[in-house]
Amino acid sequence: MTLALGCIADDYTGASDLANTLTRCGLRTVQTIGVPSNDLALPDVDAVVVSLKSRSIEASLAVSRSRAAEKWLRGRGAAHVLFKICSTFDSTDDGNIGPVMDALRADAGDAIVLVTPAFPETGRTVYQGNLFVGSVPLNESPLRDHPLNPMHDSNLVRVLARQSKTRIGLVALADIARGPDAVRARLADLSKQGFGAAIADAVFDGDLETIGAVALDHRLSVGASGVGLGLARALVASGRVKPNASDAISEAPVGGPAACLAGSCSQATLQQIARAEEAMPVLHLEADKAVAGKDEARRALAWAKDRLKQSPILIASSSTPEQVAALQARHGRDAAGHAIEQAMADIAEGLVQAGVRRLVVAGGETSGAVVDRLAIPGFLVGAEIAAGVPVLRAVGASHGPMLLALKSGNFGGPEFFSDALKLMR
Ligand code: ADP
Repeated sequence: MTLALGCIADDYTGASDLANTLTRCGLRTVQTIGVPSNDLALPDVDAVVVSLKSRSIEASLAVSRSRAAEKWLRGRGAAHVLFKICSTFDSTDDGNIGPVMDALRADAGDAIVLVTPAFPETGRTVYQGNLFVGSVPLNESPLRDHPLNPMHDSNLVRVLARQSKTRIGLVALADIARGPDAVRARLADLSKQGFGAAIADAVFDGDLETIGAVALDHRLSVGASGVGLGLARALVASGRVKPNASDAISEAPVGGPAACLAGSCSQATLQQIARAEEAMPVLHLEADKAVAGKDEARRALAWAKDRLKQSPILIASSSTPEQVAALQARHGRDAAGHAIEQAMADIAEGLVQAGVRRLVVAGGETSGAVVDRLAIPGFLVGAEIAAGVPVLRAVGASHGPMLLALKSGNFGGPEFFSDALKLMR
């Protein structure tokens, strides 16, 4: 197998977002959790997104992990690698975007790298090098108060210059609008002047397509899912990838018992649980007991055992904001959250031991805890159940074929659990 595109994402949810974008553009895509082992057996895919958690760690660690991911992807034949960053350019003067870009650029041997976090469909646009979040510049958006990476400068040429060892130039919208050859000429000019990277303006999807087409001349690009979209469309347009319906679903059905777990306490998830009560047996965990020890997870598994043979089931820890606040006051916010995540992971593990191979999980952190516990190395990304929530087929899992849906709390319509199970056969 030769990958048409390799991607290194600096966080898990950003990786899923990118994998979902590539799949929608017709690329068969696997998302891996961390740098995969060399013997991971992959289905025949066009793109692999390696998910790291490197956005806010020490720069030298982010560099070494990203280089390991790049090595793995190049080893699988990836001619082009996208370093996927946040569409709000989350970083500090110490990194990690600049240091990782510099290291990957050195490894790739590229003279100049195109960089843009633009993703117009989510309101991220770049003009004259300035990043806008919706209608306001980055430094006036809520990102100015981000707890880890407060963004006080919307001019990305300046922001990246503070993090990188190379000179940072600009490919302005006027050049982008004139098409790929104008962008190539501008890059050649910048490169001759000693610039090693350039922020590219982009306001519409068409701008991303131009950027994607030019980026494919190079071995490395840096950007958010918008560049992923541009690269994917350019790969399809140039005939290098034949667009495929995703086979995460169309492959052989997995069958067997199905279960849902809800650890999100978001309004959307609470409403989805209420709807699911009409369609399947639902067990509400006692949150205090789940925090106290393993007995509550055991009780849930005993409850599930026979019911699973009849129909899908749902086990939820979710409760109202008042109940959540009360539990947090008793146990501390992080301790309560972590303990319930681990209870959900215990339950997921028990359900899989009981034969469950179709699992829907509501809650971002909850999903992370479940996936880590099940030690699933990666996923083939399938069709969307709801915006941003695809069906996932486990790749390389020790317990064999398995379908999952992992949704962050607020995603999905009121019938989300039934909608998911309909697509997960
Ligand atoms: P979301 O995607 O909605 O943010 P997460 O799973 O990321 O959902 O976060 C929900 C957090 O709330 C998790 O840490 C989870 O363990 C915790 N939690 C779940 N149920 C309860 C509860 N009844 N009381 C307090 N915290 C809870």
